Amino acid sequence: MRILYVTSEAFPLIKTGGLADVSGSLPAALRHLGEDVRILIPGYPQVLANLRDPQPLVELKWLPAVGNVHLIRGEMPDTGVPVIAIDHRELYDRGGNPYSDALGQEWSDNALRFGILSRIAAILSAQASPLVDWIPDIVHFNDWQGGLTAAYMRYSGAPHAKSVLGIHNLAFQGNFPPEWVEKLGLPRQAFAPEGFEFYGHLSFLKAGIYYADAITTVSPTYAREIQTAEYGFGLQGLLAHRARDLHGILNGIDTQEWNPAQDPHLPQNYDRKSLDKKAGVKQLLQQRLTLHENADAPLLGVVSRLTHQKGLDLLLHVAPALLEQGCQLALLGSGDPALEQGFMLLAQQHPQQVSVSVGYNENLSHHIMAGADMFVMPSRFEPCGLNQMYGLRYGTPPIVRRTGGLADSVTDTNEFTLRHKTATGFVFDLATPEDLLATLRRALTSFGDKEQWKTIQLNGMKTDLDWNRSAQAYLEIYRSLV
Ligand code: ADP
Repeated sequence: MRILYVTSEAFPLIKTGGLADVSGSLPAALRHLGEDVRILIPGYPQVLANLRDPQPLVELKWLPAVGNVHLIRGEMPDTGVPVIAIDHRELYDRGGNPYSDALGQEWSDNALRFGILSRIAAILSAQASPLVDWIPDIVHFNDWQGGLTAAYMRYSGAPHAKSVLGIHNLAFQGNFPPEWVEKLGLPRQAFAPEGFEFYGHLSFLKAGIYYADAITTVSPTYAREIQTAEYGFGLQGLLAHRARDLHGILNGIDTQEWNPAQDPHLPQNYDRKSLDKKAGVKQLLQQRLTLHENADAPLLGVVSRLTHQKGLDLLLHVAPALLEQGCQLALLGSGDPALEQGFMLLAQQHPQQVSVSVGYNENLSHHIMAGADMFVMPSRFEPCGLNQMYGLRYGTPPIVRRTGGLADSVTDTNEFTLRHKTATGFVFDLATPEDLLATLRRALTSFGDKEQWKTIQLNGMKTDLDWNRSAQAYLEIYRSLV
């Protein structure tokens, strides 16, 4: 099957979050199953610089608002998956990240930058595609950035591939003022509730939900949650209406990149059989972050965007109580200035117990994942979440809220799950400081029982987190469409 995978980020070319991890792994896993996948991605400078063996592919002429665009063909540097990059300097050759400038301000022409991504995806998915020798059967477009793909396909009137929208986070919808409808060459009459209009705006994500042949999201629980008012961000009605075409498939993880036995980011490697070496990684992490070098102090790890979604305000709230109990905290992340400052203040007050690193740091994220004793993720909502799965794999039991992919990937520790060797972490229900603290205390009690703790660690490390199973599930959906 020919599959065009449309994404605004893909690891290791460029990454701001989980979408990049999925876009790096899923196409590779599908290819491994024998399918013919190509990734379509904007040609940001990092993409053009990291692409293996780039070659000019084709020139698309007279696109509305942007003129001529060159497509470049290359390969993913690690997996060899073919990539089509959109080379348009004015749109994509900028500093900052794919969505915003260095100060965090969103690019004012994002509607155009990602409208063009969608438009080109539609052009390449038509039977009259300029890539005459490669016409896809399926176009799998992701999040709001690819959201207009199926709308462009519908209104082109030409025969085309089947379309699948992948939702990685419903909170980001790509809603823009109505004048963009015309600028992006979309039909005026479709700016309606039965179309891509959403509360007076042009909504890229709603367009995807409305026009795609099928919709996937990244965990079964999240697929159910987004049909409710609590998690649906106003789109719950439409999603419930499309429930028959909506599928939740839990992400896998890149088990090469995230493997404590061979992770080059770690000062020392370990696996299930040499789990005692994890203590050395912890000690070196304490040294690196100038925390008090104490093997017995429970070290809590956090690697996260600092936003309301991630619920880290709850952790900040209960941190003093945890520090009193002798815990340490190693946090890496950036985002909401109030949260950054809150955690930095905590670190200033408790330099031997709390380390806060503001910024993005691949190497440190691996070191924290391996060196921490437990990993905290109190998310208010979490479509899938990857870090809790990295925690499982690294023998760093996750403490998570029962929502989305967290609920689907972590099994709470209790008598029953301990007896059946399924306990892998600690799960709480309410997004309140009290519930988080009570659950952290359960985890600390368990941590004090060395044998029990090791059982939980090993259960997690044995969990099958590979992409293969998820890729099979995606294939089944593709097959049901063509
Ligand atoms: P989201 O996509 O909502 O941010 P996920 O848990 O799905 O959350 O994925 C986040 C990914 O980004 C993980 O691979 C995580 O390790 C990485 N990450 C997040 N913040 C940082 C950071 N400050 N430094 C390094 N990696 C980070």
